[in-house]
Amino acid sequence: MSHSTQQEELNPYLIAQRQVDTAAAKLQLPSHVTELLKKPKRVLSVSFPVKMDDGSVRIFDGYRSQHNDAIGPTKGGIRFHPGVTLDEVKALSMWMTFKCGVVGLPYGGGKGGVICDPRELSIGELERLSRAFMEAIADIVGPERDIPAPDVYTTPQIMGWMMDTYSKLRGHNAPGVITGKPIIIGGSQGRGEATAQGCVYAIQSALKDIDLPMEQARVAVQGYGNAGRIAARLLHDLGATIVAVSDSRGGIYDPAGLDITRVEELKDTAKLADYGAQYAISNEQLLELEVDILVPAALENVITKENAANVKARIIAEAANGPTTPEADEILDAKGCIVIPDILANAGGVTVSYFEWVQNLMNYYWSEEEVLEKLEANMVKSYDAVRKMAKEYETNLRTAAYMISLHRVTVAMQARGWV
Ligand code: NAD
Repeated sequence: MSHSTQQEELNPYLIAQRQVDTAAAKLQLPSHVTELLKKPKRVLSVSFPVKMDDGSVRIFDGYRSQHNDAIGPTKGGIRFHPGVTLDEVKALSMWMTFKCGVVGLPYGGGKGGVICDPRELSIGELERLSRAFMEAIADIVGPERDIPAPDVYTTPQIMGWMMDTYSKLRGHNAPGVITGKPIIIGGSQGRGEATAQGCVYAIQSALKDIDLPMEQARVAVQGYGNAGRIAARLLHDLGATIVAVSDSRGGIYDPAGLDITRVEELKDTAKLADYGAQYAISNEQLLELEVDILVPAALENVITKENAANVKARIIAEAANGPTTPEADEILDAKGCIVIPDILANAGGVTVSYFEWVQNLMNYYWSEEEVLEKLEANMVKSYDAVRKMAKEYETNLRTAAYMISLHRVTVAMQARGWV
């Protein structure tokens, strides 16, 4: 994924600030309010040692950013990736505030990241790293302060280790400190598929807007992890044709439709490329395929001003955070492409994380049906509200979503007497 071009701004923090500026101007927010919303309230930077299997000690760097807690404790995932930067984590924490705002959760935004490549770590090294990072940030997280969750290359098992470390430090079981845990230790039914499921609910709303039945929709999914893989499966089961998927090593494309069960088996036991050399495509090619729905579900800045004009999808559902740059947004807008913005499209994850936290605090657990029913109701309601705002202010779904959110956070800050 390219991280710099000459003219286009690809720093996610500056992009997030620009998105806030756009919506704040439409809402005519006072400049001091906009300024406050453009910066995280608190950022913690940590360095910590991890004993490696070969007896050496490696020092890792990580961050936790808490953007705004006017509405409630901050909430957001922890990313393990070699490309993690402080600005990326700050941007992701801002997007979390506005995501929680747009779907009406009683949270602000937080995010964490560790610069590492978990694919190169043994399971023991991964556990020690996960526990050490939680120890390093334990002072600023907690069920009533800041509640992490999974993100890129972090899993329910990692959430379990982190919850265990935090609980040991506090001397009591504290399942509400983190979400996305294994079900046996307080995870929620439905959390594993929540991000993808929420995205699919949003896609269903968008398909109605363009009057296209799911059975006629052709879909490409970039990123075949928690969000992308499950979205592909759910869309397939609803009748859509999944023509392409990809992971960090590249993609596969069959215009007649991929055999999703075989793709899942290959991802688990081999690699996507084993589907057949004649089906191979690059991650860049995937974005420009002749499809109705494009689901970017990997990393930031994949749809830029360089390739936006070549994107043929009628709907882009941003399962990933920050996949589209502001310049690309303008190009897509002009083409009439419906971009379901990340803060709405992938809000199913944090919504069910919220349900998990509520269940942890009550110590009373819901069935999967109950969870999915509440998730669907909230996603449909939120999508409708964003669509209505977009119509009223003659703007795109992203700016409308930001407007709803910025308004909520501003009212909360006023109610607290901050601004
Ligand atoms: P994951 O680790 O489960 O999966 C990431 C996938 O992306 C993997 O298949 C990986 O191979 C692929 N990938 C990595 N680098 C790539 C590249 N350069 N090109 C193409 N594919 C690449 O992560 P995830 O949890 O599915 O997160 C994916 C995106 O969804 C991120 O932007 C994340 O912030 C966002 N998101 C996740 C959640 C959640 O609940 N997990 C919630 C909201 C948003």
